[in-house]
Amino acid sequence: MKIKTKFFCRGVHIDDKKSLSAGCPIRDVAAPDSVAIALSQHIGKPAKPVVAVGDVVERGALIAEADGAVSANVFASVSGKVIAIERRPLPRGGETDCIVIENDGENREVSLKPLQEITPDSVRERVREAGIVGMGGAGFPTAVKLSPKTPVDTLIVNGAECEPYLTCDHRLMIEKTDEIAEGAKLLALALGVERVIVAIELNKPDAIAKFDGVDGVLVAELRKRYPMGSEKHLIYSCTGRRVPPGKLPADVGVIVENVATALAVYEAVKLGKPLVDRVMTVSGEGVKEPANLRVPLGTSYRYLLDLCGGETDDASTYIAGGPMMGATLLSTDFHTRKTDSGLLVLTARQASIAAPTACIHCGRCAEVCPMHLLPMDIDFYTLAGDYDMARDRGGVLNCIECGTCAYVCPANRALVQSIQMCKQKLREKR
Ligand code: SF4
Ligand code: SF4
Repeated sequence: MKIKTKFFCRGVHIDDKKSLSAGCPIRDVAAPDSVAIALSQHIGKPAKPVVAVGDVVERGALIAEADGAVSANVFASVSGKVIAIERRPLPRGGETDCIVIENDGENREVSLKPLQEITPDSVRERVREAGIVGMGGAGFPTAVKLSPKTPVDTLIVNGAECEPYLTCDHRLMIEKTDEIAEGAKLLALALGVERVIVAIELNKPDAIAKFDGVDGVLVAELRKRYPMGSEKHLIYSCTGRRVPPGKLPADVGVIVENVATALAVYEAVKLGKPLVDRVMTVSGEGVKEPANLRVPLGTSYRYLLDLCGGETDDASTYIAGGPMMGATLLSTDFHTRKTDSGLLVLTARQASIAAPTACIHCGRCAEVCPMHLLPMDIDFYTLAGDYDMARDRGGVLNCIECGTCAYVCPANRALVQSIQMCKQKLREKR
């Protein structure tokens, strides 16, 4: 059944470029010769290795365990031998320890023990055990979200996928409808909520049609507007509730989970499968054969691009994630993680941006900001080194880094970079 939705007035319309890969069914990727599995694939402390160099593991074996409450278990995505535990770079900067496994090609696999009983406690424990985190990009350990400190009455399954180019959630919704609905119901059981809403943008009518009529699930048809998939805007659109600054969705009685997370929960509870792979989109005009791929975690980006026919002659810029919130890469020497939904390659013409000029005080960035902030003031005070004013006058701490302000700025100001730097400086001061 469909529900009435509300509409937030800011944000922007973007050419979504989804037609490049929306019609590509999910393909299972053959495991590569080796994988480098990061110990930090989530918000919180990196996991602690429980294997050593020389150990032989099976696909699905625990190789690193959660270190504390906000952390997540990590599993082998191929069978083979651990050949190194070493530092590797992360797409957004910094490094993490990775467990490198040489694939023996034998595809030996282990599963989690079958659950004797499906209860709220057993589902929560299984989600924790399986290392499931928010797969929409946030990477917050899902088991923690399943124990909210305030009462909740609604679960929203986020199928908005408002970032241009990305179509992996869209394909999951039409190819794995029943499994996602099952996973959502298991999440609802763990949370003790009865209202489950699957929220989908109107540019995915086939996905809306698939969920409309699924028993026990409400469907919210969302108008197409970026950043519709941001938690706060999604909650407002589906329930009319506003999450106050500094508060969490649970404070207004809502938990939001991505469709891929709901599928992972289904697979962990019903099939005993820990989180060892995910579906991601490889797309952009710089890729010869855009695709949606089910990828073993730890697979190199280079391997994925080669599977998609490689880059076009005018390929120039690589992005991990979508073009609005993703990270521009200096190389393809990275490996997939639980939170990776896309790998894009843009052409030189698309990626060329004129050099920034002085702010002309047109106010467009403030007009479109979905968080009602003053991006030009944040930029001004940040560049002046007055981070407190950027916080107090510009509201930088409420910024969701959606990139909408930079998208419309006629002066090509690097607004998001200013915002990120300001937040970092304020963190250092704290
Ligand atoms: S200031 Fe932040 S929230 Fe507002 S448009 Fe810019 S990036 Fe998005
Ligand atoms: S959109 Fe750009 S030029 Fe216009 S006020 Fe904002 S920062 Fe200045």
